[in-house]
Amino acid sequence: MESNTSQLPVPSFIWDSLMATMKAQSRRLVDDIAKTLGQEPGPLWKEVSKQQFGVYLVDMNEPTNEVFQCQSYCVCGQVERPCKKPVVFGKKYCSEHLQKPQIRPTITLQKLRLIKYYDEETGDVKLVYLNPATNEVFSTETLDLVGEWNHQEKTLALFETSLN
Ligand SMILES: [Zn+2]
Repeated sequence: MESNTSQLPVPSFIWDSLMATMKAQSRRLVDDIAKTLGQEPGPLWKEVSKQQFGVYLVDMNEPTNEVFQCQSYCVCGQVERPCKKPVVFGKKYCSEHLQKPQIRPTITLQKLRLIKYYDEETGDVKLVYLNPATNEVFSTETLDLVGEWNHQEKTLALFETSLN
């Protein structure tokens, strides 16, 4: 398959499925409107089908496509961070944040940095949060205090209870 930078290849069965779903939902909406108005759905369907427009396909893994991500902050789990959900072309915020975007992080919340470390026992790369103001280290899942960061020595000490 030949591809160029302005096109995103989509498997045809996915596209066909998406189109069929959109058409079925549109049909249901038109039937609903016609029923509410006490009219036949046929002429209304004919009228709404006249106007069509092109759809942009955007690869959200492409870093230059950040403009298509929601710029609002949101509380995801226990952490407030940029929302980054896809947005409609030309909009800055997703449908959830369009009415009331949070354009800056809440200043009363403590600022945490994500720290990646290598666990020598398990051989895994793990993540913890560091509060740079206090050098306290927290679990990324529970936000429990699990250790301390030594700023001078650049070392991470995890408490015994947090290692199980
Ligand atoms: Zn959003």
